Amino acid sequence: IVPVLTIDGPSGSGKGTISRLVADKLGWRLLDSGALYRAVGYAAGAEGIDLSDVDAVTRCAQTTKIRFVASPDGGETHVLVNGHDATDELRTETAGAAASAIAAIPSVRQALVDLQHGFRKAPGLVADGRDMGTVIFPDAAHKVFLTASASERAKRRYKQLKDKGLSVTLAGLLREIEARDERDASRPVAPLKPAEGAVLIDTTGMPIEAVVEKVFAVLHP
Ligand code: C5P
Repeated sequence: IVPVLTIDGPSGSGKGTISRLVADKLGWRLLDSGALYRAVGYAAGAEGIDLSDVDAVTRCAQTTKIRFVASPDGGETHVLVNGHDATDELRTETAGAAASAIAAIPSVRQALVDLQHGFRKAPGLVADGRDMGTVIFPDAAHKVFLTASASERAKRRYKQLKDKGLSVTLAGLLREIEARDERDASRPVAPLKPAEGAVLIDTTGMPIEAVVEKVFAVLHP
């Protein structure tokens, strides 16, 4: 059975960075499940679909072709949505908010289950998201839940987006992130919460290497 490490947590908790580093070190595959919800939200927007139109968004989730393409120079992975490279568009907080809206629809989540299970291939999988340990891979051997204070998470996102040349304000981001977390945690399906047996790591003020070390301690206790 292929081993899975689930890394769940709110936005800005360090999930994305930590998951990528750990997957690279282990030589395991990586599932960025947030990118799938972002891609569906983006595709729906591009098709002019009203995000509250459950049937249309569900159809969109069932038919959108999402491909992850590793860059040959070891740089960031690109995301193709129906053949279009949407990497930059998917990063914005607008895409995050759209993702959070459509992610609350049970039939949309259902449409993405098989695709996510397909990432489980030898020698192992690091799965990054909100419900990796609770819903998608409940049988995972290793489970981590990352958190950090809201202001620290907003600061990290601010730095990430600024570095990409996007114009954002810290106060605005903090508001948006808190609203998104609140929605993710309070939705009836797959709410954001630690899985049973998950190891909680509060990354507030912790350097990245220290978090990676803690995650490896979960893998090899
Ligand atoms: O992790 P990321 O910020 O890319 O996720 C965007 C949104 O997608 C989250 O706010 C959440 O609403 C949704 N999501 C989810 N389940 C996952 C991953 C992401 O509902 N496993």
